[in-house]
Amino acid sequence: MSDHDYDLFVIGAGSGGVRAARLAAQLGKRVGIAEEYRVGGTCVIRGCVPKKLLVYGSRYGAEIEDAKAFGWSYDNLAFDWSTLIHNVQREVDRLNGVYTRTLENNGVDRFLTRATVEGPHSVRLADREEAVSAEYILVATGSAPAFPSIPGAEHFISSNECFKFEALPQSIVILGAGYIGMEFASIFAGLGVEVTVVHRGEQILRGFDKDLCDTVAEALRDRGVDLRMCTNITSVEKDGDGYRVALTDGDCLHASKVMAATGRTPNTKGLGLEAVGVELGNNGKVIVDAYSRTAVDSIYAVGDVTDRANLTPVAIREGTAFVETVFEDRPKAMDYGFIPTAVFTEPEIGTVGLTEEEARENHAIDVYKTSFRPMRATISGRGEQVFMKLIVDVETDKVLGLHMVGPDAAEIVQMAAIPLRLGATKADFDATMALHPSMAEEFVTLRQKWEPPTPIKGSDAAA
Ligand code: NDP
Repeated sequence: MSDHDYDLFVIGAGSGGVRAARLAAQLGKRVGIAEEYRVGGTCVIRGCVPKKLLVYGSRYGAEIEDAKAFGWSYDNLAFDWSTLIHNVQREVDRLNGVYTRTLENNGVDRFLTRATVEGPHSVRLADREEAVSAEYILVATGSAPAFPSIPGAEHFISSNECFKFEALPQSIVILGAGYIGMEFASIFAGLGVEVTVVHRGEQILRGFDKDLCDTVAEALRDRGVDLRMCTNITSVEKDGDGYRVALTDGDCLHASKVMAATGRTPNTKGLGLEAVGVELGNNGKVIVDAYSRTAVDSIYAVGDVTDRANLTPVAIREGTAFVETVFEDRPKAMDYGFIPTAVFTEPEIGTVGLTEEEARENHAIDVYKTSFRPMRATISGRGEQVFMKLIVDVETDKVLGLHMVGPDAAEIVQMAAIPLRLGATKADFDATMALHPSMAEEFVTLRQKWEPPTPIKGSDAAA
């Protein structure tokens, strides 16, 4: 046992930090953890969990409409935001309690205050005189919303504030078309808010397979979301009860709320890391090696603060790998291959592996894709479409990428991530028996290679 107060001191009680603290404590290590906001971190308190609950809430309106064709009827359909947000907050409080008790039950000392790094083994806590010492320090402080520097930027809210709305806004302008922008556009549209998305690029969700982006963009437009591409916000001004939003294309929007969903910045400001020799990247991220170790041997970092793959399950795995490496003498380098991910729009995206565009860079590929109406829509009459796509390496027959837009895409793709990791071939998919009737069966019955349309002679000039 070292002379330090703790074997491990964790800064930040989010997904990565709590996992590392609990596992180290279960190994008999003396562990302390500091959190300046609420135990649970972004995912639990103001991210994935409350967001997914809002997604559920936003889908019922259309589903209740669909139910009519299945014989259901009702009177007085109405939506009450305060009921939804109250119930979401109650669940967040419950989870906050679960996380807190997990730490308590495992003997982790909790400090609900800001912590900063003072030395390779020293942490200063804002609410006490004495610094605490630890053999290892784990920085797991996550990230915070980034805002563009434009006149009136102080009027932007981030997704954080959406969980505190007392009333649903009548209209909202969202800047940015990444995960958060698209998910909140979809949530608000489902709840009847007028939504405009302003995006500097040509298409939403940069980095995703283009077919997925096109499918979701079309579906969002059909649901009334005004997607303004190739433009940006130049200024935001207060205008009566709402805001006046000026765009680079000269247009001007008015909305009750203006939200920035323009990425997140690693939380390292004022943490004291550089002063003790920890190297930071341009955007403030902590630079770590494959074992999450910083430039200082006793200081490690996991999760969004390292800006690797900024997803909750990744932070949890990084926290686990850190404990195995440092306290179990089993060095564990992270593997970032085949991370499945979802965008919880309506319809939702599930995706794993390479996009068609990425695959074409280094492989000769075959593409299989299909698009169809889900069975329930044949009765409900809703104009929804499912889209599925497989990217196959011509040389090895391995499935390099699997993509879907449609109901339960996240659930389906989570399971599909397993065969992709195992190196499944298209022949393995074809040999797998279909489960009928389901949507997922299409992934094992795709036979027809997709051929790009042959250009019609002379059409270039006309285009
Ligand atoms: P993203 O990086 O996904 O998207 C940011 C968006 O803002 C992009 O459209 C980007 O445009 C645009 N943008 C960035 N800077 C500016 C600027 N200065 N002016 C105008 N537009 C700008 O970030 P998000 O905020 O949506 O999400 C943050 C992270 O949270 C994600 O990367 C993801 O890791 C995580 N997350 C995951 C979820 C999930 O798994 N379902 C859900 C929510 C969040 P461009 O494309 O041109 O760069």
